[in-house]
Amino acid sequence: MPETFDAARRSADEVIGHAVVKALKSRGFDAVYAASKEEALQLVLERIPQGVSVGVPGTVTVREIGAVEALKAKGCTVYQHWGQPTPEAQDQARMDENAADFFLTSANALTQDGEIINIDGTGNRVSAMAWGRSVLIFVIGINKLAPTFEEGIRRARSATIPNALRLGLGTACTKAGRCVDCRDASRICRAMLILEAPTTGRETHVILVGEELGY
Ligand code: SF4
Repeated sequence: MPETFDAARRSADEVIGHAVVKALKSRGFDAVYAASKEEALQLVLERIPQGVSVGVPGTVTVREIGAVEALKAKGCTVYQHWGQPTPEAQDQARMDENAADFFLTSANALTQDGEIINIDGTGNRVSAMAWGRSVLIFVIGINKLAPTFEEGIRRARSATIPNALRLGLGTACTKAGRCVDCRDASRICRAMLILEAPTTGRETHVILVGEELGY
């Protein structure tokens, strides 16, 4: 029997995580459960060989597990639009991300039935998830699990609020504390992608991590 509340929670996460991995596999995703972010990073590095190019779009999760630094240390070329100095440089980096050998990202929500839900503003992230010649790898924290499809949509929408705050957009949700389906010019929820299975012919990995990652 687990001795502490944390241990009990980790055990429960592991049971749920393995059930979700099974659901993802039934849909054709190459899915695996990682108990920790260190284990998740190891699984990422096992899947991405030395010297290839990797696109990393706007994702806190991938950065939280230390993948960007580890991939660079491994000799990979990492393209990322975050931190680029001009809009032109950001656009070029987005194109480089989507044309890379691997596309390493997270998701806004994952249902317990294995559907992967993402909401995007610029659209670069969801377009690369929907089609590309790259190998697609998702790293998803257990906090992004939703029990139903409807809860997944709700979770994905609420996950954009911290992003709106981070970017200082002043959208209605940053004042209301919830999505109000705004019509703001700076609205960041503009395109939604629901992956019910890997798109045809696309190698797609999902690493579900038993830790809170991203938002
Ligand atoms: S209020 Fe607007 S920007 Fe905020 S989560 Fe809802 S649709 Fe997105």
